[in-house]
Amino acid sequence: MYATVILDKSIDTPLEYLVPEHLGDKITAGSRVIVPLKGKPVSGTVLIRHNEKIFDSPLPIAELSSESRFFSDDLFRLAEWMSKYYGASLRKTLLCMIPAIVRKKTKTDEELEIEEDEFFLQEKKSLSEEQQKAFDAIIKTLHDGIFAPHLLFGVTGSGKTEIYLQAIQEARNLGKDVILLVPEISLTPQTIERIKSRFSEKIAILHHRLHSKERFATWHKIKEGEIHIVVGARSAIFSPLKNLGLIIVDEEQEGSYKQMEDTPCYHARDIAIVRAKFANATVLLGSATPSIESFYNAQNHKYILHTLSCRPKGAMPPKIRIVDMQSEREKAQGFSLFSIPLLQGIEQRIKKGEQVLLFLNRRGYYSCQKCEHCDEVIRCKNCDITLTFHKKENELSCHLCGFTMSPPPTVCPSCHREAAFKYKGPGTEQVERSLHKIFPEIRTLRMDRDTTKKKESHDVIFKEFRAGKADVLIGTQMIAKGLHFPSVTLVGVISADNGLMVPDFRSHESCFQILTQVAGRSGRSSLEGEVIFQSSFPSHPVIQFAAKEAYKEFFDEELSSREALSFPPFAQFAKLVLSGKNEEKTKAETEKLHKECKQVLPSSCILYPPIPCGHAKINTRYRFQFLIKGPKGTTIASKIAPLLQSRKRPYGIHILFDVDPLNTFF
Ligand code: ADP
Ligand code: ZN
Repeated sequence: MYATVILDKSIDTPLEYLVPEHLGDKITAGSRVIVPLKGKPVSGTVLIRHNEKIFDSPLPIAELSSESRFFSDDLFRLAEWMSKYYGASLRKTLLCMIPAIVRKKTKTDEELEIEEDEFFLQEKKSLSEEQQKAFDAIIKTLHDGIFAPHLLFGVTGSGKTEIYLQAIQEARNLGKDVILLVPEISLTPQTIERIKSRFSEKIAILHHRLHSKERFATWHKIKEGEIHIVVGARSAIFSPLKNLGLIIVDEEQEGSYKQMEDTPCYHARDIAIVRAKFANATVLLGSATPSIESFYNAQNHKYILHTLSCRPKGAMPPKIRIVDMQSEREKAQGFSLFSIPLLQGIEQRIKKGEQVLLFLNRRGYYSCQKCEHCDEVIRCKNCDITLTFHKKENELSCHLCGFTMSPPPTVCPSCHREAAFKYKGPGTEQVERSLHKIFPEIRTLRMDRDTTKKKESHDVIFKEFRAGKADVLIGTQMIAKGLHFPSVTLVGVISADNGLMVPDFRSHESCFQILTQVAGRSGRSSLEGEVIFQSSFPSHPVIQFAAKEAYKEFFDEELSSREALSFPPFAQFAKLVLSGKNEEKTKAETEKLHKECKQVLPSSCILYPPIPCGHAKINTRYRFQFLIKGPKGTTIASKIAPLLQSRKRPYGIHILFDVDPLNTFF
């Protein structure tokens, strides 16, 4: 008996080994083994067993790392699919499916009890007619034990989470295991609380801030079948559950489901669909603003569509209005952060003891300072972006690499003259300070990356706000999603246009999504909710559709423009990004790879010219990219992957191959 083994380290080509007698049939595809390589023991994964010897005298496998297999059949097939689809080697794909800590330690030498919180168990709610209809269809496929993808399209606050919880209960009653994916654990405390308070059984919460010990212990408990419900962000989709029956992807449109930094650049929502297929499981995607791809699939009957059109009784959809900031500026005779209607709205809420959310997708005080003499802006020395001023710390800082200048310079780095700087691009810190100048008594909380550096800080801020310890919560996209604050009756979007002008084919979609999400935080109880979008382009269709909560109209318009340009979902993009410290060499290498791609790509593909990335330099590394467009499927990956793998890797240059990139610009 022989086995083909793929090693964890360095070599992409699988190697052949002999299966020793005593390990007999314990070794199968997916087993983790220790094998000799150049006299040293190394770890790897068995790909296949076979009877025919290919090489002369293969060495024997030294030992089995663990009695049970790491990769169940469905996970193993998933790895093969991922490797093909994303054009990544099977070695890298398998590695990305096992947490690093589990790979390093192979025996459970440390037993760690996972901390359990105490919760009062909560009753399930009786479902509305719309909810019931969706629920029935979902549990039908769950009972049948067949692969079925569902898309739950429900306006914000319409009771999607309630359906998730009841479907999980149903799966557990059938003895099936469940994965619930959420965009980011620390930003979804209420979903986590709700799920914990519904089930008396143990639930694994896979947090990226888990200590490696906790991660290790949790992974093994899942593997040993002690835990049957897993909640986590993107990589939780690879949880080694044995009897997977249901996968739920909450906020399926979220960008955080996409791996963007490393190969394989997988999308956890798409992986969820494929894993469910291999496991004959039901998969439920939920969203108030489904991605164009998912809604298109529902329209083509690839997904079963369920719609929740209203909030449970008592809660009304909020009234949304657009305030034209051009005319506000004329009235104020200059720049103003807050329009008059927004200020009046805030004042009224404070008087009534209600709460306000203010959203601005930019942190810091000012994001740009220009020299009054030469008009140059101050840039990071490591990156191709401007430095942001943070008033509290009195420093300029780079939001890409963390470089800081403290205190900020008084002499222009460009023209070397003593300079008074002109400031532009207000951020959340400025919103907070300006608000205090206007309303000296106002109580505010701020939530952005600067105020949440500690592990518990998200939780602390959410709890304080919910307990009414502040009138206004100011924040970046951290406050835009999934939160439920019953006393919030006004949501103000400081600049609804942010992001609209990004040169990317998805910028309209992202902008519509964030506006809809943030608007959905208002009016979630019996109190009437209001939303104000401050915009300098009030008649822009995206702002208009978002203000009317007209998802379907937005979708139709967006889809037809995607079709006209043959953009996804009508075609597929892939992106190659090369980065290196030497600008010339990186550029030359990009052009060389571009030429090689031209030779291997079929005529059904379009190769775009090489260009510097939107962020042309990050952390002293220069970045170049080019796009490929082709038919959906594996055409591009099947041509490009062999090219990348056989190619001699140029020294110091990193290449990232991103299939279905979320952004094509940065
Ligand atoms: P979504 O996930 O779509 O944002 P949620 O499930 O969080 O919506 O529901 C919003 C609010 O409505 C929650 O407070 C929830 O407890 C409540 N709710 C959901 N379904 C029902 C129901 N059938 N009856 C009463 N209240 C409900
Ligand atoms: Zn930088």
